[in-house]
Parts: sequence; C-alpha cells; structure tokens
Amino acid sequence: GIRVRFAPSPTGPIHIGNMRTALFNYLFAKHEGKADFILRIEDTDATRSTVEYEKYIYKELEWLGIEWDEGPDKGGPVGPYRQSQRLDIYQRYLQKLIDEGFVYRCYCTPEELEVDKEQAVKAGDIPRYSGKCRHLSDEEIRRFEAEGRPSVIRFIVPDHEMIAFDDLIKGHIEIDSHTLGGDMIIFRSDNMPTYNFAVVIDDHLMDITHVIRGDDHVANTPKQLLIYKALGFTPPLFAHTAMILGPDRTKLSKRHGDNYIGQYRHKGYLPEALFNFLALLGWSPEDEREIMSKDEIISAFSLNRASRSPAVFDIDKLNWMNGIYIRQSPPGRIAALAVPHLKAAGLIDDNVDMRWLEKAVASVQEGISYVAEIVEPLRIYFGNVVEPENDEAAEVLKAQGVYGLLQRFKEIVEQAQNIDEAFAKEVFNQLKNDTGLKGKSLFMPIRVALTGRCHGPEMVTVIPLLGRDLILSRLEHILS
Ligand code: GLU
Repeated sequence: GIRVRFAPSPTGPIHIGNMRTALFNYLFAKHEGKADFILRIEDTDATRSTVEYEKYIYKELEWLGIEWDEGPDKGGPVGPYRQSQRLDIYQRYLQKLIDEGFVYRCYCTPEELEVDKEQAVKAGDIPRYSGKCRHLSDEEIRRFEAEGRPSVIRFIVPDHEMIAFDDLIKGHIEIDSHTLGGDMIIFRSDNMPTYNFAVVIDDHLMDITHVIRGDDHVANTPKQLLIYKALGFTPPLFAHTAMILGPDRTKLSKRHGDNYIGQYRHKGYLPEALFNFLALLGWSPEDEREIMSKDEIISAFSLNRASRSPAVFDIDKLNWMNGIYIRQSPPGRIAALAVPHLKAAGLIDDNVDMRWLEKAVASVQEGISYVAEIVEPLRIYFGNVVEPENDEAAEVLKAQGVYGLLQRFKEIVEQAQNIDEAFAKEVFNQLKNDTGLKGKSLFMPIRVALTGRCHGPEMVTVIPLLGRDLILSRLEHILS
C-alpha cells in the first residue's frame, strides 16, 4: 500500500512551508484512501531539538486537522518513530557500509577542509572535498586516534556519475555526482547520523513509497539515492513541492511577517480556512475553485496538479478567505475565540456574560478577517463614557437640535421598562414624533453619542446590548 511521511525536526515552531508539506502528504494519503500517513520526528540534532517543540508539532497538526496513522505518540509497526531512539539501527547499517568498503573515517580539521576546498577552486574546480582521508595509512590513522582528533564518517561519492530520478512534480532530474561536493559525511564526530543517512534508513525501513517534501531538498535526493544503491534498497518515488515566496518573490521568511502556524492560530485564523489556504499554495483543482471544504480538497487532490513554479504567499487572500469562514461560523465559536483577545485588551474578565458576548460578537462578526480584529469594533460596548472618535463624529454632536434630541432620548430610556430590541425599534418613532427629526439627523447623533463613532452595527442591535446603565452614563457625559 501507499505510505507517506512527514518528518519535521523539532527545533522550532512549525512554519507555513513545513505545514504545507505535511498537508500535501496528508492530502495525497487521504485521496488514495487506504494509504498510511506516518509522522517521524527527526531529532538527531540534540542541541536544537526539544520535547516542547515536538509537542508543539502534534498540537499544530491536530489543530489544523491533519491526523496521522503512525508516530511517536501513536506507535505503529515500524517504530520507534523518533530518530533519537533509532541510533542502534543506524549503527547497524553503518557497519554494513564499513564492511563493504563504501565509507571511511575522515580526520580533517575545519581549517584543513578549508584549504582542501580552496585548492579545488584554484585548480579550476568547484569547491569540493578531495577525499584525501580515503588514502590515510594505518600509521596516520593510529596517530590521529592517539591525538584524540575528532573524526567523521564519509560515504564515497563516485565521480562523474549521472544520477537521475523522475520527480512526480518536477519531472526528470539528472545530476552529475561531481557537483555534490565530494564524499559526504554520513556520521558526525558526535556519532550521530546526518540527515541524508538517517532519512534513507528510515524511509526504507518504514516502507515509505512516496517522499513528498519541499524542493529545498532536491539537492539532497541524489545523495540519498547513492546511499539507497549502496545498501541495495529500492528508493521511493519523490515529489518535491515548489517553494513558497513572499509578495516580493523572495523566499518566505520572517521579513514577510508571520511565518509560523502558531502565530495565525493565536491571531484567530480558523483552522479550516488555513487548511483551505495552504492546500492552494502550490496546488489548484482543475476547476480553479477556491473555497473548498476538507473533503472537497481531499477528493480533488493530486500531485499532477501541484505547481512546478513557486507559490506566492498572499496575506490579503488569506484574510479574504478567513473572513468567509468567520462569517460562516456560529457567533458562539467566534465569541469563545475572542475571549483571550478581549481579556488581553482589558475589556472583559472571567465574569463576562457569554450570552451577551455572543450577541455582541454577532453584531460585528461580519466585518473582520480574523478574530483578533474583533476587539476594535467591540470596543463600542465597553466603558461608561465615550468620546467622539474623530472630527466627523464631533461635528455630528454639534448640529442643531442634538442637545434636545439626546435629552429626550435620555428621558425615554429612564422611563422604559426594558431596554430590549422592541424598545430600540420603538424609541426612534417616538423621538421622530417628539423632535421632528428624521433619517440621518435622528440616527446619527444617537449613534455618535452612544458609540463615539459614525459607523457600526445597527442601532436596534447596539441599544439593547449596551443596556440602560451604559446608555445613561454615556448620555449624561455628553449632555453635561
Ligand atoms: N527533517 C527534514 C526537514 O524537516 C525532513 C526532510 C525530508 O522530508 O526528507 O527538512
């Protein structure tokens, strides 16, 4: 059966590009139906990998709705799924390569390597390691060992061999092995396997059939293919997804703004919107639909339609898309997501009436792109006094007859039984009769007096949500 994997290194929060890779693997597996999606944690860089980041990977994948079938937390038939727990396995395959003469120990210091590469360049070649340690005498090796020199294991890269593979996205790729930089390190001096070695052992032992990953790894694939060949393994198929660029068409990075999935989660982007958006970063369905549910994406997904050219991360498009998903969400969901933002802004605490908040949210939900943005329009519902927010609003209150209008409005509110929606509808009729004002000259002063703003939700919605106390305190402030 088909088996794919996502193999993140737990050395930082998951960024957009990594998540897109996870998503494409997931979509490919789900589309195929009976396929398995494996999560493998590549934590051989012990200095940079942390348990917290590993947990974060699980959390972000779950949040986005990407489920895996096998992984460190779930187990499975070909575990362990954490590279740091597979070191004995790598040693076993290293031994095989040693026994069969594919590797040698290299004692070069960083300075020696520098000189070695410079010599290659001077001789008109590209900077590459000459492989000089391949020819060390037993005597020299003994001396280096006695000195306690650190050493690495290098895999012998045959020179000028054409390495070819058919990438499922990029098509036929051929690379001259001479360009690979010389014999490659497969074990570091700390006795840890390098990425290129461990990934081959794992993908083979885990029966991976399709390796779908970012095209920053295209240059690694020929190196991996050499190791597959040396070990007599059949390589999987490869699909390298095109890069994600910022709007300025350079590789997406911090400079372009938020880069991590967690940053979008915190701001109140909805997982199904991000799922939809990421799926369209470098893939599109035949009919060019944009708003698609998870199931629709799964059923339409194929690597054939994955783009060969880079995808541009367009934040305006994400905001547009997320806004659509927000408008489709029940206000209760948005209200719950808004709570931390409103708390951080000092507008609510734990005593907030969630039924009230839900209605307040419903009144402004339409205008936001992500939940954090809701704080601003919701401000109208908080505070005993409000000031006109700008000159336009201040002017409204200076118009002829406004004082009398607000005075009358205040009296009516004081006498009313309930400040509910029925009241809010009726009060404008009454004010129209009592003052002779109508239309904008009637509504605007009341809107500005109650909210400080010239724009916002319908007054029939705002008035009951404010309630008697806030309405009166705000009116008194204006009238004093
Ligand atoms: N740990 C590697 C990365 O995160 C995995 C690359 C691969 O999929 O082979 O880039």
